[in-house]
Amino acid sequence: MTKNTGFTGQTRSQSHWHGFTQMADYRELAVERAEGCWLETTDGRRLFDGVSSLWCNIHGHSHPAINDAIREQLDKVAHVTTLGMSGATADHLADRLVEITPGDLSHVFFSSDGSSAVEAALKMAFQYWQQRAEPRPEKTTYLALSNAYHGDTTGAVSLGGIKYFHQLFAPILFSPVRGPLPCTYRLPEGVSAAEACDHYAGQIEILLKEHHGTLAAVVMEPLVQGAAGMITHPTGLLSKVRQLCDQYDVLLICDEVATGFGRTGKLFACDHESVTPDIMCMGKGLTGGYLPMAATSARPHIYEAFLAPTSQSKQFFHGHTFGGNPLAAAAALASIDLISQSGLIEKVDGVADRLRGRLDSIGDHPNVGSIRGRSLMVGIELVADRESKLAFDPSGEVGRRVCERAIEKGVWIRPLGDVIILMPPLVSSDEEIDLLANVVCDSITEVIPEQKFVAASTTKGEQ
Ligand SMILES: *Cc1c(COP(=O)(O)O)cnc(C)c1O
Repeated sequence: MTKNTGFTGQTRSQSHWHGFTQMADYRELAVERAEGCWLETTDGRRLFDGVSSLWCNIHGHSHPAINDAIREQLDKVAHVTTLGMSGATADHLADRLVEITPGDLSHVFFSSDGSSAVEAALKMAFQYWQQRAEPRPEKTTYLALSNAYHGDTTGAVSLGGIKYFHQLFAPILFSPVRGPLPCTYRLPEGVSAAEACDHYAGQIEILLKEHHGTLAAVVMEPLVQGAAGMITHPTGLLSKVRQLCDQYDVLLICDEVATGFGRTGKLFACDHESVTPDIMCMGKGLTGGYLPMAATSARPHIYEAFLAPTSQSKQFFHGHTFGGNPLAAAAALASIDLISQSGLIEKVDGVADRLRGRLDSIGDHPNVGSIRGRSLMVGIELVADRESKLAFDPSGEVGRRVCERAIEKGVWIRPLGDVIILMPPLVSSDEEIDLLANVVCDSITEVIPEQKFVAASTTKGEQ
């Protein structure tokens, strides 16, 4: 029998299995090249990259400074291991990350994707309690928030709380202590917006009080839970959680994979509330969105618990073949240089304000429930009824249809359920932002003509 290699002589590959994609419905869309914020497809279309190639592109595609840095590195060495040795470029990047990350985060562990950065953080926290000077070996569990998303490897999925993505795998997962969903759109009954922060912090404190003896760490996405649908936390919650973790002697792990490198208008989301987590995960934007690389950084007390004579076996029992890859490290250094030289972060809020301003035109649409997020992490939640915040019946696939319409109009975006996600590259120009907003507003009004859609059967409190 001959193997189907998938080669058909046409552009459509029969072999490529895509993540989070129903292949039975998949319609060919392949990018041949990209420049700035624009993707050029094999069938000759130009699409604005409205979600930054899955939330990671910062400076646009094919930026000469990043391309040159990768080429220069390629002529030196493409890959060396970081187990027991190192590449000079990764060493340099670790130093640079220590300079720019919050507070006294002092040591950087490299991996290849955000999920692995989270896995490393979990194991680091666990091993820390096992072997620090005064060990607490009973601290072996984690507190994660409702609707959390920390990646798709099994440990990260265990932390995850998005039913649609995660519930299927329950039999092979460990169970975290589950905290609240600190949502500012659907508030619990009787809780005002002004009370939301104290309310959610209070719920977290109750759990810490009960479980702190066995908790290794609280794990959270700071400020915005991206994959949950840009669920935006009340201001002040992050610093409250930091205080509570100190009070109850539990580590704080912040997953900045989505929020890091300027997305929220500061270099890191933690910077908004002057919080230094004990362990911090970075991914997506680390290399400017060019090459796969992620990092887990730790404060001195964590790192020092792993120092001992080799014979005591206290080294971190974790490592990835391609962790600290020199090409990715070169791209990351070039991206960080661009960020600091261009004053990019100071401009992000201005770009975001322009986008929000342009989106105001659909703010009154009866099916636009909320336009939310922080800076250039934006979600537009479409609802069947604005007043009751009732969700559409998922079978209507309103979100998917809006995004398909936008793609027809030249803007590539991808929804999360009925939340339309807008995460353009941070360097998007005024004209590009206007185009993005106009296309999204038009797509929503065309797909959901006002008054046409009436109530659906389900609410979407939890997905
Ligand atoms: C995307 C994401 C991850 C996973 O990163 P991958 O590189 O896709 O493995 C983890 N945490 C958060 C908050 C993310 O948004």
